[in-house]
Amino acid sequence: MKQCRLCGSTQLNHLFTAQNIHGRHVFGQEQFPIIQCTQCMVAATDISPDEAYYSKYYKDDYYTSIQLFGIMKNICKYMKKQVFKNRLQLIRAYAPRAEKILEIGCGMGDFLRFLNASYKCSGIEINSKACEYIRMNYPDIAVFDKRIDNDSFKADELAKYECIVMWHVLEHIEHPRIFIENLTKMLVNDGVVIFSIPNRNSIGFRLTKKWWFHLDAPRHLFHYNYDAIKKLFDQNVWEIELTKASKLEYLQDLGRSVYESLKTNISLWDKIIFVFIVPIFTVIRLLVSCVSPLNAEISTYVIRKTSN
Ligand SMILES: [Zn+2]
Repeated sequence: MKQCRLCGSTQLNHLFTAQNIHGRHVFGQEQFPIIQCTQCMVAATDISPDEAYYSKYYKDDYYTSIQLFGIMKNICKYMKKQVFKNRLQLIRAYAPRAEKILEIGCGMGDFLRFLNASYKCSGIEINSKACEYIRMNYPDIAVFDKRIDNDSFKADELAKYECIVMWHVLEHIEHPRIFIENLTKMLVNDGVVIFSIPNRNSIGFRLTKKWWFHLDAPRHLFHYNYDAIKKLFDQNVWEIELTKASKLEYLQDLGRSVYESLKTNISLWDKIIFVFIVPIFTVIRLLVSCVSPLNAEISTYVIRKTSN
């Protein structure tokens, strides 16, 4: 990458080299440089996404869930429900008048199904298999197979929303500026966007670097912190109303991450780190997120559109 895709600066520093890691999966020994813009301080995975990138790193079965049994299945189900309840509370608190909700990157529609009794739900999803699944099984959820970070995206073909949500999506977006422009067009004035995103200021990113659970290289193209989010959402148009730590998300993936690291062809040193160090950091990160939201592993933002 010669230029920061967020601010256009050419002053980029190499931070460290990452592997192809996806939280619970370690896919092997491919390497990706992680760089940082010295101007806006956003970190990024140094890769130029093309068609081959999308078909290689986002396979059709991207959303296929892991088969779990017994107590693990129940724990995961319980935690997922708690996360969903927390998200619903935020929607109720910050968009009390919202009647319809749009979820960007809705996957197989799990969260929209949870909301379906209280709201008219729509989703945008680029994985065509996931769209097909929702259309077949939940016909009352409208789902659109579109990329938003694209000049050809027609925001006026969709309704306007009081509330748009996205969970772990923004970091995957190749052209965040175009994405935010189109997001602005899809929200009514005074509408909110609520989202969760891994935090590059977290203790995990800073200390565990290429082993960081949420690095997800090369799928996470950007690694944001509060300042980068503030820069991305133009403060003349948007106002950050809430930044909080998300403590429960992805905890259930830890066991899987340990198991996958043992099966995968990576160095013994990497395996040792995954099995012994990463779980210790999970406990530490939980404690840190309780006392210092800006250093939490995952941040949740509520950002309101204050003008056009
Ligand atoms: Zn920059």
